[in-house]
Formats: sequence, structure tokens, C-alpha cells
Amino acid sequence: MSKMRRKIAVVAGGAGFLGSHLCDALLSENVDVISVDNFRTGRARNLAHLQREPRFELIEADVIDALPACLGRLQIDAVFNLACAASPPHYQTDPEHTLLTCVLGTRNLLRLAEASRARFVLASTSEIYGDPEIHPQVETYWGNVNPTGPRACYDEGKRAAETLTFDYARMGRVDVRVARIFNTYGPRMRADDGRIVSNAITQALAHNPITVYGDGTQTRSFCYAEDLVDGLVRLGACETPLDGPINLGNPAELTIATLVGQVIALTGSRSSTVFCPLPLDDPRRRRPSIARANELLGWSPRIPLSTGLKSTIAWFASEQQHTPVVNAHVSKLPTSLHAAGDGLSMNS
Ligand code: NAD
Ligand code: UDP
Repeated sequence: MSKMRRKIAVVAGGAGFLGSHLCDALLSENVDVISVDNFRTGRARNLAHLQREPRFELIEADVIDALPACLGRLQIDAVFNLACAASPPHYQTDPEHTLLTCVLGTRNLLRLAEASRARFVLASTSEIYGDPEIHPQVETYWGNVNPTGPRACYDEGKRAAETLTFDYARMGRVDVRVARIFNTYGPRMRADDGRIVSNAITQALAHNPITVYGDGTQTRSFCYAEDLVDGLVRLGACETPLDGPINLGNPAELTIATLVGQVIALTGSRSSTVFCPLPLDDPRRRRPSIARANELLGWSPRIPLSTGLKSTIAWFASEQQHTPVVNAHVSKLPTSLHAAGDGLSMNS
């Protein structure tokens, strides 16, 4: 009897917040995983628990450049492209790199998938919809994106990544799946990430003022990482060819002011709220329609915000011993976290 070959997945951006959870989920599905990351926003310690896992490998590389030759010699079954900073202060730190990651990085990974006859899964984003005029956002909505604003390197980069991905599919070159991910939170977010959940929690735990941009009436819909990654795994495993993207997110919409109130209540914090200017092009509202994910993947999020926030708060509280707390806007990110002492030697 012939032994069944083990499946192999490449996860680009595997040292990041969502990528590291995806690596865990794939390994638990008995898939061998090779993570490719440049450590710009990712951290080796997100994967430290896999240091002795023989079915896991971590390669330091930038997907903008030619991919490591060793990947071309493997029989890869799936390529997940999560490589790209997701937090506005981080992706705006080096907008050229962000745009090129989306375009050249996606092309390199599509070519890898084509050469290996692997399925390609793109982590796209709700930012495709920009400041949406249609609410909730359905996949057929084309969006309202400012192509020259500070968010454009990411929004337009991801739109171009989707274009390229569906061009490869139309030409019959690669079997593709595209997820449009809405705001996601959970353990392994960086304290200096700059996003609302990480900022509010670190500020609340330190009893510092919580920064609300604008008047706090803008809305978002927050999905817990475990739910989101479950959706990504299902999407990657979906055998039905899909002719378009699928929204993944939690439709429970709330204002930023309400979210901040919940974080203050759950942390028992003495923090006050401080109002700061609203960043340019900040979307007024965002909520996914997940009918398509429900129908095609049998997926819907299960973890309510209060439960997810509690475990995220507990994780940040334990992290505080290791990570400096920042209060608000992140102005500059080290170009190499590897060089900043958080490198591949997973003992750090
Ligand atoms: P993250 O910043 O934690 O992870 C991104 C990872 O990609 C990091 O490990 C980073 O070092 C790596 N990376 C960036 N550019 C790279 C390059 N050129 N070459 C190699 N590695 C590179 O962000 P995240 O929140 O985990 O997001 C992961 C993916 O999901 C991103 O593609 C993002 O656009 C998408 N997404 C996330 C959210 C969210 O709320 N977290 C929402 C929508 C879409
Ligand atoms: N935001 C805020 N305070 C912060 C960080 C963000 O009020 O310290 C706001 C931000 O302006 C946006 C919302 O919270 O309206 C969600 O921001 P985040 O960066 O988390 O995600 P995105 O803007 O990409 O949806």
C-alpha cells in the first residue's frame, strides 16, 4: 500500500499576527508548513512554540524579491499570501514597500503556486471598499477608495493584488481563493501596532488616556482571530472553484466609542478618553455581509466580542512584562525587527 504524501503549505507573512495563527491551524490540520517572512512587522516569537516542530520551517525572505530557490523544489499544495503590514501606521511607514509587497509579492507567490500547481489564497481586505457607500458591504460592491491618499498604498495595493490574482485564475494558470478580511483582533497583536484594539487595551491596562480619533461615532465590526483563521482554512480547503472574493469578518458592528467603553469596563481601568484628530480617509463605517461565506464555506464567527476581548486583554497583560507600552500613534517602526533583537533565534 502506498503511503499518502503529506500536504505542504507556504504561509507568506507567517510570523505576523494572523499568519502565526494560520500556521498553528494548518499544522493542527496535519499540513506541513513553511513560513516566509521578512520580520518587518512580524516577530519570531509568535512562532517560538514551533521551534522544535519538525513539520514547520521558517525562512527569512522578502516576497518582493525572488523567492528562495528551495521553495521551487517542493511539491507545494497551497500558498497563503498574508505578507503585508495591516495596521495603518505600519503600512504607511514605508508606503512604497507596502504597494510593492502587494503587487510584486503577490506576483512572486502566484508564480510559485503556478509552478507547483498549488492553490493560491490571498488575504485581501475590507479596505478594498474604502469609505463605503453600500452598507453592509457585499462582495459585489466595487468600493470607494481615494487612490492618492495616505491609505492608498495598502487599499490600492490590495485591489491590484486581487486584480492580478483573478487574472491568473481567468488565464487558467492558478486555482485561486480570495478572502476580504475585516478588522480582526486577538493575541499576538503588537502593543505598538497602532490599531484601535491594541491601543485601547495597552492604554487601559496602563491607566493612560485612551486615544479616540474623531468623535468615536465611526463604526467597525471586529472578528476574533481564531474565527477568522477558521474561515481562511475553510476557504483554502474549498474545492468549489470560486469566481470572486469572499468576505470574512464578524458582522457585529459597533462604534469606536462603544468599543473603548467595553475595554475600560473589562479591564477595570481608570483611563479617561482623549479625542484626537481623525486620520485622513478614515472610513465612517464598516460591516461585512457574510452570506457568501456562510453559504459556500459553512462559516460564521462564533466568538462574541466580550469573550474575545477578555482573552486578548489577558494576553496583553502577560505581554506587558516583555513589550514596552505605547500610548498612541506609532511614528516609526524599526526597518528590521530582526536587527532590533527579535530575530530568528527563537530564544529571544
Ligand atoms: P501583520 O503585520 O501582523 O502581519 C504581516 C506579516 O507579513 C508580518 O509578519 C510581516 O513581517 C510580513 N511581511 C510584510 N511584508 C512582507 C514582505 N514584503 N515579505 C515578507 N514578509 C512580509 O498583519 P496581520 O494583521 O497579521 O495581517 C495579515 C494579512 O491579513 C495582511 O495581508 C493583511 O492585509 C490582511 N488583513 C488583516 C486584517 C486585520 O485586521 N488583522 C484585516 C484585513 C486584512
Ligand atoms: N482609532 C482610534 N484610536 C486609536 C486607533 C484607531 O480611534 O488609537 C480609530 C481609527 O481612526 C478607525 C478605527 O479606530 O476609525 C479603527 O482603526 P484601526 O486602525 O484599528 O483599523 P482600520 O482603520 O484599518 O479599520
